[in-house]
Amino acid sequence: MIGIFALVLGLILGSFLNVVIYRLPRGLSLVRPRSFCPRCKHQLRWYENIPLFSYLLQRGRCRSCGAPIDIRYPLVETLSGLLAFYFVSRYGIAPAAVGFYSFSFLLLAAAFIDLEHRIIPDEITLGGIPAGLIFSPWNPLAGPGEALLGALCGAGAFYLLGEYYLWIRKREGLGEGDYKFLAMIGAFLGPVNLIPVIFMASLWGVFGVLITGLFKKEKISGGLALPFGPFLSLGALSVVMFPKLTAFLFPSIH
Ligand SMILES: [Zn+2]
Repeated sequence: MIGIFALVLGLILGSFLNVVIYRLPRGLSLVRPRSFCPRCKHQLRWYENIPLFSYLLQRGRCRSCGAPIDIRYPLVETLSGLLAFYFVSRYGIAPAAVGFYSFSFLLLAAAFIDLEHRIIPDEITLGGIPAGLIFSPWNPLAGPGEALLGALCGAGAFYLLGEYYLWIRKREGLGEGDYKFLAMIGAFLGPVNLIPVIFMASLWGVFGVLITGLFKKEKISGGLALPFGPFLSLGALSVVMFPKLTAFLFPSIH
């Protein structure tokens, strides 16, 4: 019963997450006006704005102009619903569930915005750091001291990684947004967990490059063809959701 409640709440929050993903990088207000079709600007009525169901009932099209609705909308809502369900099932209705759901909300927002715009807004990265610190007294993965150290190490580690990349490839490969993003991840997971996060992100990255290569049929020219943010998000989620895998890969950490 609590699981169903979490799922529905997650779907609704996922609908707001879509608003964040669309409006934040475009500099639009997150609260006004009401949701609209990006093509015909038709404002959505309440029954056109029900997470997931409206998309299915309208067969993925705007009711007013028939423009196809981006598959990202139902995808983000479903992911948000499943994550809320997962964290409440694992921790119950507790600060840990709220904290980790909020963390995944920020990770998903960063991933989808980075995928489309190649930036991660400061509102997510720099705004997420205090969020991680506030959550830390209840955080089973990183207490207050670790959260603070994690944020500092996140910024530092990525700086070193960037310098290394520059040294190897003789060009800039990592954006400024990436190290702020890793600082945010560090504030939620602590310094030690950053190692498996970067490791998992790299694994997901290799996987992503292979998949993109298969579909695009163009040669990967050695540059960073994909933004790193989505893979960092996947890496962080993997560490939060599969602690046993992390413990197996990095036995000395856990
Ligand atoms: Zn429309």
